[in-house]
Amino acid sequence: MADAPKTAAIKKIKAAGPMKDLMGAYFKELDEAARQRSARVAWCSSVGPAELLRALGFRVYFPENHGALLGTSRLATEYIPEANAIGYAPTICSYLTSDVGAWLKKTTPLTKAFGMEGVPRPDLLAFNTNQCRDVQDWFAFYSREYQVPIVGIETPRSVNEVDAAHLAGLTAQYRALVPKLEEVAGQKLDLDRLREVVASSYRCTLLWKQVLRAGTHRPAPITFFDGTIHMGPAVVLRGDPRAEEYYQLLAAELEERIKGGVAAVEGERLRFYWDGMPVWGKLREHAETFAAAQGCVVASTYCNSWIFEALAEKDPFVGMARAYTELFIVRAEAYKERYLETMARDYGIHGIIYHESMTCPNNSNNRYGLPGRMAKKLGIPYVVIQGDLNDLRCYSDEQTRTQLEALFEQLHDRA
Ligand code: SF4
Repeated sequence: MADAPKTAAIKKIKAAGPMKDLMGAYFKELDEAARQRSARVAWCSSVGPAELLRALGFRVYFPENHGALLGTSRLATEYIPEANAIGYAPTICSYLTSDVGAWLKKTTPLTKAFGMEGVPRPDLLAFNTNQCRDVQDWFAFYSREYQVPIVGIETPRSVNEVDAAHLAGLTAQYRALVPKLEEVAGQKLDLDRLREVVASSYRCTLLWKQVLRAGTHRPAPITFFDGTIHMGPAVVLRGDPRAEEYYQLLAAELEERIKGGVAAVEGERLRFYWDGMPVWGKLREHAETFAAAQGCVVASTYCNSWIFEALAEKDPFVGMARAYTELFIVRAEAYKERYLETMARDYGIHGIIYHESMTCPNNSNNRYGLPGRMAKKLGIPYVVIQGDLNDLRCYSDEQTRTQLEALFEQLHDRA
């Protein structure tokens, strides 16, 4: 590590400005819809039936995005105890507890960021248990508080291959949502409009994938830490053409970087894969720690989880059922191993970081021996860091730094 730079400046992506504007416009529309009743508002889990909601004219709000905002603004730890006090355990999802805690305290970082008085009042809540049960319980809280309907898709977990039986059941569930959604939306579902939204969401997916695949280049023009910020439109605006426009812009900027040999991490020597959730309150520190070791986190499970290649304009219900069941988080260990192996090879990975997120077992893939099996298969080292997505009481700066430095040293010695 003798020649590693002492300081490591984070290179700013120029498209960050337009992204902030786009997110601002999105929240402004939500706020107006909720306050002026100009459109119905639906709250949706992050990999829930967003296309269906959008096709029915709902403005769609994502509480997990709000949870991440509470994490990045480091307010989560302050609010979690509020939710604990009404019976939501400290060990369950800290997005849930910080979001509910902030709601109980009648506060939100959206006020400072986008001038909103509060979160937009929902007319309906829609979840999919493909990622976890917590979203169902989380939304049930708000359904009781606001006295509004809650609907959901119940997806099987630990799926190895998504087969015809899964698809038949899930497609039927998507179709069964329609009458309730139409009732709250006050309009009938127009199949052509659904096809249009699904087609836009699909194009957004391909562009987001292009952005992430830019990380296969050496040096990589983008890091995982950039990705966690720039994934915003793919999460909250998929199905809206403005998300596509944004990723065209970002992809073009990354292409320029590649052409000019511009690295996201100056002097990139080591390439890492990040599995699990980001530690939202530590993004900057983590980005700087890796950059100082000339290490670039070039790929992650998390950012790739918003790629939905099975979305199908021709058959939107089956496409949605498949796309939202093929996700990494829904799958069995055998699939996850195959996936990680492909990613490690495609991106030329030297080491893997597994983040064990204390309040999210669903996104912690270290608990059933997977890291050891992958290390044997790939012949590359790994480290498991203990932390959490939002609850910084579960995270130790010192312990993480020591673990990462040991990994960096091991890899620099090998190089
Ligand atoms: S997947 Fe994890 S972080 Fe996301 S909502 Fe579920 S428990 Fe929370």
